[in-house]
Amino acid sequence: MTDPLVARMRPFGTTIFAEMSALAVRTGAVNLGQGFPDTDGPKEMLDAAAEAIHNGANQYPPGPGIPALRAAIGAHQQRFWGLDYDPDGEVLVTAGATEAVAATILALCEPGDEVVCFEPYYDSYAAAIALAGAVRRPVTLRPDAGGHYAVDPDELRGAFGPRTRMVLLNSPHNPTGKVFTRAELALVAELCQAHDVYAVTDEVYEHLVFTDAATPHVPLATLPGMRERTLRISSAGKTFSCTGWKIGWASGPRELVSAVLRVKQFLTFVNGSPFQPAIAIALGLPDDYFSEFRAGLQAQRDLLVAGLRDAGFGVLLPEGTYFVTADITPLGGTDGVEFCRSLPERSGVVAVPTQVFYDHEDAGRRLVRFAFCKRPAVLNEAVARLRKN
Ligand SMILES: *Cc1c(COP(=O)(O)O)cnc(C)c1O
Repeated sequence: MTDPLVARMRPFGTTIFAEMSALAVRTGAVNLGQGFPDTDGPKEMLDAAAEAIHNGANQYPPGPGIPALRAAIGAHQQRFWGLDYDPDGEVLVTAGATEAVAATILALCEPGDEVVCFEPYYDSYAAAIALAGAVRRPVTLRPDAGGHYAVDPDELRGAFGPRTRMVLLNSPHNPTGKVFTRAELALVAELCQAHDVYAVTDEVYEHLVFTDAATPHVPLATLPGMRERTLRISSAGKTFSCTGWKIGWASGPRELVSAVLRVKQFLTFVNGSPFQPAIAIALGLPDDYFSEFRAGLQAQRDLLVAGLRDAGFGVLLPEGTYFVTADITPLGGTDGVEFCRSLPERSGVVAVPTQVFYDHEDAGRRLVRFAFCKRPAVLNEAVARLRKN
């Protein structure tokens, strides 16, 4: 029999996370490959979910999400970013940010339309673009003289053309930890308006920009002329350490949200009934929750970055997210995939190669990603193992 899989999905094998996590289990290595926290989120949120299950929130919720959660999503964006979205019609609850991204691309892209994105890119983007029959146009993020990953303005300009339908922007950025600067966002905004295209922003790390970052987080939708053409996506998983709950959302102008809902209703219809009221509670937690959460991750970042530098990796300090990207060149490494396949046996630690998140693989060949969203004891153990080599 020939491969039953449709041609457009054949380039997508099992994800590198599955391979590396299996390797971690087999070798007993510390798994800093996959980006999920090893502690639970706030107690108020956990209690609210348990209570919701016992109080009957176990059937299909409304298609766009329960009103209390949509109201909380609206209020949260107003509180932190001064963005005003009507919970009735401008906010849609989804099965994680992943579904929001997929439904958006499927809703807005005709086959052959182009999506400008930035590489390394989050792995689900490429698959969602392929499912839609659309074409990705990645712009490569490269280290600049100041020690930050940066966008080349000419490369970005050159990526836009007559078939461009949208730009897909992830900031704070996984896996580099880059926070897009105001100047970079202004150029994205200018190009979106000049070419009359949509912007889709993945802001799942909106609360994880560290205090020493060169730029604060600026949602693209807050720039002049952008609210009306931007669909802003976020999720509870990263901010409230509940990645398995898969509660995400999209906010934007009514016509865009309604288009995404049209597709979303046939993907999952709805999800996470008892988790929705719990996330509504979490979004309303006092500012202290968000600043303490960030401070904890920043300390974990510092611990891991110091350890990686001691072990000889080349490291650019990430300004946000759960991740640090490290260069293996100073250790004599030439290929991240090879390096990561042997690292568990050699050092007892798992990382993921970032070249799999590039179209221009050479740009990422010597880069590997470590996650620091783990308890300090786990990071200390990983660092001790890496230092031995
Ligand atoms: C984790 C992550 C997601 C997925 O979010 P879910 O809510 O779990 O679907 C999307 N984008 C980026 C950049 C991520 O790191």
